[in-house]
Parts: sequence; C-alpha cells; structure tokens
Amino acid sequence: MTEKVQLPGWDLEAIYPDAAAWEADFAKIRPLADRFAAYRGKLAESAAMLAEAIAALDDFERLGEKVYVYAHLRSDENTADSANRARVDRVCGLFAELSEISAWFEPEIMAIPATRMAEFLEADELRLYRRSLQELLRERPHTLSEPEEKILGMFSDVLAAPGRTFEMMNDADMDFGKLTDGAGRRVPLTHGSYRRFMEDGDREVRRRAFRRMFGAYRKQRNSFASTLDATVKRHVTSARVRHYPSALAAALFPDQVPETVYHQLIATVHEELGALHDYLELRREVLGLDRLDMYDLYNPLLPECRCDYTWREAFDTVKAALRPLGEEYGATLELAERQRWMDVPERRGKRSGAYSGGCYDTYPYLLLNFNGTLNDVFTLAHELGHSLHSYYSNRTQHYHYADYSIFVAEVASTTNEILLFEHLLAHTRQPELRAFLLCHLADEIRGTIYRQTMFAEFELAIHRLTEEHTPLTADLLDDTYFQLNARYHGPKVQADPLIACEWARIPHFYYNFYVYKYATGMSAAIRLADRILRGTATDREAYFGFLKAGGSRDVLDIMRDAGVDLSTPEPVRAALRYFRRTVEQLRRELGR
Ligand SMILES: [Zn+2]
Repeated sequence: MTEKVQLPGWDLEAIYPDAAAWEADFAKIRPLADRFAAYRGKLAESAAMLAEAIAALDDFERLGEKVYVYAHLRSDENTADSANRARVDRVCGLFAELSEISAWFEPEIMAIPATRMAEFLEADELRLYRRSLQELLRERPHTLSEPEEKILGMFSDVLAAPGRTFEMMNDADMDFGKLTDGAGRRVPLTHGSYRRFMEDGDREVRRRAFRRMFGAYRKQRNSFASTLDATVKRHVTSARVRHYPSALAAALFPDQVPETVYHQLIATVHEELGALHDYLELRREVLGLDRLDMYDLYNPLLPECRCDYTWREAFDTVKAALRPLGEEYGATLELAERQRWMDVPERRGKRSGAYSGGCYDTYPYLLLNFNGTLNDVFTLAHELGHSLHSYYSNRTQHYHYADYSIFVAEVASTTNEILLFEHLLAHTRQPELRAFLLCHLADEIRGTIYRQTMFAEFELAIHRLTEEHTPLTADLLDDTYFQLNARYHGPKVQADPLIACEWARIPHFYYNFYVYKYATGMSAAIRLADRILRGTATDREAYFGFLKAGGSRDVLDIMRDAGVDLSTPEPVRAALRYFRRTVEQLRRELGR
C-alpha cells in the first residue's frame, strides 16, 4: 500500500491549467461551428473557398476534441465527482445540438461538377486536402441522388433498430440467475462473471456456468435470429442499393482492402488448423481430461506465476523490452514519464481497466490501474504502443491526416506485447515462468487470430446466405455455427451441443465485417516484431514510417512500406508458424 501512494498520476493541467481555461475554450466551440456553417452553398465557388471551409471544419472539430478529452479524462479520474460529470454532459449536449452541423458538407462537395472538381484537385490551395477529397469522390458511384439519400437518412434510425434490440436483450433483459462459484459463494452469472467462471479450476463449476449461459441463449434463439437476420439483410440491401457487388465489398471499401485479403485470411487459417489442434491436444493432456469441452478452453493451464512488480520495475522492464526499437523510441518513453502522460494507481472512483486516450493537442495519455501483476506489465506495454503511435502520428502529420484507421489501430500495441514477451522469455530460465509466458502467448494468438477468423468466416457465410435469399433461421444459424466450431477446434474437442447458439451472444456480428481486422492486425504485429528484433536499421526505420503515417495513406500501403504485405497470405502464414513454434516450445518446457 505504501507504494501505491507514490504511484504517479497524469498531468492534465498541461491541457488546461484550471477550470476557467476549459470554460474559455468551451465558449469558443459554437462560434467556430457558426463560422464553418457560413460556407454552406459556397463550396463550388473556388478552390480557395473550399479549402477555407475544410480548414474551418477542422478548427471546429480540433478544439471540440480537446475540450472533450479534458472533460472525459477528468471524469475517468474520479467518476464520482459531479463537476467532472457535468463537464462531460455539457460537451456531449453541445455536440448533440451541433451534430447536424456538417450534414450538408459532403453532399455539397460531391455535387461540384466533375470538370470543376478536376480543376480544384490541381489547385495549389487544395493541395493539402487532395487526398481526403479523392477519398470522398471514390464514394460518388455509391452515392444516390439527393432525394434518395434524404429518404435513406430519414430511415437510418429505424434501420438501426434490430441492432439496438439485440443490445437491449443481450445487456439488459437476459437473466442468467445465480450460481455457486469455485469458492462456494452464490454469485450472479453475468457477462463479466462468466469469464471468471470459465477460469475456475473446478470443471463442474465451469460446466454449470456454460450450460446456464448457453441454455439461456437457446431459449431466446428465435428472437436473436430475428435481430441478426434483419441486421445482415440491412448490410446486404444497403450494398445492393449503393451498387456494390456484395456486402463484403461494401464493408471493405472505405479501407480500400480487396476482398481477396478476407478470403486469404480464412484459407490460410484453414491450412494451419493443425497447429491449433496440437495446442488443444496439449491442453487436454496437461489438464488430464479424456476429452476437452468448450468450457475447458479458458481455465489457466498453469498456475499464475507469482510475479510481483513494483511500478519502477514494470516500467523499466517495458523500456528494456522495447530497446530494440532504438534510442529515439526509448527517449519518447522517458518523455512519457517526465511529462506525466500516465495515471498509474488504482483509486476509489477511478474508471477500471486501461486505455490510451487523447487528441491532437494533448499528450497521448494512459489510464492504468496498476497492481504489479505480470498482466499489468503487458497492459503497460500495450497501451504505450497506442500512445507512442498517436504521439508520432500527431507530431508528423497535419491534423487532417493524423488519425489512424481501425485497421491498423491494434498493430503498434500488439507489436509491443510481442516484444515484451520475447524479452521476458529471453531473460528467464525459470521453467514455470517460461511455460506461463508461452501459454499466455499461445492463448493470445488463439483468441485473436483463430477465434476471430472463425467469426469472420461465420459472418461471411451468413451474408452469403442472405445474398442468396435464404432466411437466417435459428436452426440454420445453429448448424452453420456448430459446424464451423467443430472444424476449428478439431476432433479432440467434443463440444457440448449448446455451443451451437454462441452466435446469439456475439455483438461483433452486428458490426459489419469488423473482426477480421483483429486477425490481420495481430499477424502484422508478429511480422513487425520479428523485423525489429532480427532485421536491420532500415527495417526499424520502416516501422517508424508506420508509426508516423497516421491516416495519410491507404492502410495496405502503410503496412507494405513497414514491411508487411497484407495483400498476400504470407504474414498470416508466418504468424501461425510462430504460433506452432510457441506450442512446440511450450510442450518441451512442460516436458511432454
Ligand atoms: Zn489496444
């Protein structure tokens, strides 16, 4: 406890020295919105006019982010403080009021006649914005007439209803009752506690939780099938209406990711399912079970190692692990500490978990709840990966291009985790710790590449069924899911038939082809960590090129220049070979 008192907090005064300074900026937001709105109807007048309008929108959004970030970080620091809460509410209220402020903007740009736009794109005044204008114009063939867009806009809230209904059922209405946990306590079974039940050492406790959870979904499966069916129909219909060849093509269009990337991911993971089956077989042996069931996949294979880190040790370990990134990166880590980007200790009222957050005009802050576990050290490395990615992109790019796409958002953070894993493994001879680390990594890759690809394949299957006008009934969804689950987990897992309705509880199936990015992101990270550890100075420079790129180029180009060509199956294949080696090493470490 004595150390907790000394754990560092973040320096939010660097954003605003006091509440009055925040108020002063808050008061500027509406005038900035008005200044931007004055350009309505004038965009086609000249290149200079269009450039001014884009800059005015940037000014409004940029200050809005800063004002919001401060309110939000202050509120997370102490969620019980009503002054903090009030600031967040006021910002959100103002943004809601101004949410329509830019609705006219993109349609007005798209309505600029093609010949005039061609001149604009050559004009010096618009040089900075050329890329973002071209991005917008790519959407022209998929944009409908003004009255059509208007009608679709009016229906958008109604069309989102099935997704909202799913959330309501899943988060509010589903009741899983109470269960006895491993310590003999009666506790409510919830989405949060389910994870702890699955980690319980007592198989019977796990089995009961599993059957209770999926039994509850099974009872509601027709309702869940209906919300999912409607959501997939929405994706498919919207793709048709907007002239895309398929729902998948429509979903990948904004990132300019070809559909082959998606199909290759699935095909490559199929090739390497054997490695997953080997890992599950090892798991079965270590757990001493005749067969594995779905509730035997998340309980720790090995006892948690009793690693206890002080904050100093944790930070220094991460710094040492990231030393292969070079002096420049190390100096930035020291800067993060000196400028106090991090709020480290756990406190009453503080938001739980960990994140990296900030904006163009603030430090890339980190909220942590540090308790000294090995897991906390991994979290620190992960969140620093996000923060330094933001730091380099913000410093290198103009505000307009500083934000990076979701497609690459987890790459830098995961690269740091892999580097930390390699560092710890290289510096420990203790067999229990080595086995623990290898197991931790294998589980991460299983959860991020194999499981998310299984989800991605399911998503593709249900969209195709809908494209062929096959209604997604509960039976069809159950069958499709059960078969995929059997294929991915292999013959050594005899799944409880209730797993068939797992599709009913996965929110990501409502996100329109989102989860494949987890698998490609981790594959990229494994490849990059390898180049950083075993490559040349040029490889490391290339990695910095990615950190500094923000959203200034297409995601596949950014990754290719950093040394990962995600348009080929090679990065995923290499990541799964790395998984296979990890499992083999784990088997040796366990003497099996
Ligand atoms: Zn992350």
